[in-house]
Amino acid sequence: MAAPIKRILTGDRPTGPLHLGHYVGSLKNRVELQHQYDSYILIADLQALTDNFEHPERLGGNVVEVALDYLAVGLDPERVKIVVQSMVPELCELTVYFMNLVTVATLERNPTVKEEIRQRNFQRGVPVGFWSYPISQAADIAIFKAHLVPVGEDQLPMIEQTREIVRRFNALYGRVLVEPKALLGEVARLPGTDGGAKMSKSLNNCIYLGDPTEAVQKRVMSMFTDPTRIHPTDPGHVEGNPVFAYHDAFNDDRAEVAELKERYRKGTVGDVEVKQRLFAALERFLSPIRERRRAFAEHPERVREIVVEGTRRGRAAAQATMDEVRAAMRLNYTVFA
Ligand code: ATP
Ligand code: MG
Repeated sequence: MAAPIKRILTGDRPTGPLHLGHYVGSLKNRVELQHQYDSYILIADLQALTDNFEHPERLGGNVVEVALDYLAVGLDPERVKIVVQSMVPELCELTVYFMNLVTVATLERNPTVKEEIRQRNFQRGVPVGFWSYPISQAADIAIFKAHLVPVGEDQLPMIEQTREIVRRFNALYGRVLVEPKALLGEVARLPGTDGGAKMSKSLNNCIYLGDPTEAVQKRVMSMFTDPTRIHPTDPGHVEGNPVFAYHDAFNDDRAEVAELKERYRKGTVGDVEVKQRLFAALERFLSPIRERRRAFAEHPERVREIVVEGTRRGRAAAQATMDEVRAAMRLNYTVFA
């Protein structure tokens, strides 16, 4: 018998539309691997709720925006299952079983969650839901028995946490779950337009995949560059300069990028020209995405069907795993069935 096709699970929080960081960190790999892997892409609304519980009404509209972004970058709805997290209640059940397999000390060490808590500055203390979301994320990955998880760098502690939980589960109850591997994007952490370490919806430093031309131009022309350079004739720094990080990630004209870097280092090109060329390159990259997004947005009923069908197929896969999980844990009380 042929080995079963391997699976991918990854996802995004519906806290807004997707941006360039998502593309290089994860979406690109999803598109490239969609024909080799059985792929499940989770719109993680329950996870988004952990820091948006005061405004749950914000999530529904963003579920649609994120689904449109998936279709716009070329995920094929015939192959890839787009799954809404809250519509798979089995995920909550597995999360509860997993809570026994993680210690408080381990959760408290997670560097990504620590940083996110610092940024959010929760007024009434850190909600347990937010602090423990890596456990529910481990359930997301494990329930789909994913082998590979295409993610950005900030997610590495989550994948490591998932691997530990899976090992512990399998050791205690029997080999049911799969130990997943992270697959980092070509650019594992794209900086923000403000020069901040990470482009992130929560930090308002993004260029969105669906942004119109004028918005992209405005963001690019006001981008942070090399703070040590005052005049265009001063030699500039390419390393650590977000404008060049974006050129490296998105400009398909490699010769132009090499030439601009050389001139920048010598002080023979100004920031304005470097940014104008970046804007042109981003337009080449974004216009087909924008066009596909617009075409799908004209057919909301079709998008709805894609998400409903993806979620149905995703839930079936999750239920199959949960049958095995309950049996392994001796929780399948047939006597009451
Ligand atoms: P939020 O601020 O709501 O957390 P986000 O912009 O961090 O939003 P997520 O939905 O948390 O986006 O992340 C989804 C996926 O995209 C993850 O795999 C994450 O690693 C990846 N990702 C997000 N931002 C970047 C970035 N700037 N560079 C590379 N990958 C990124
Ligand atoms: Mg995030």
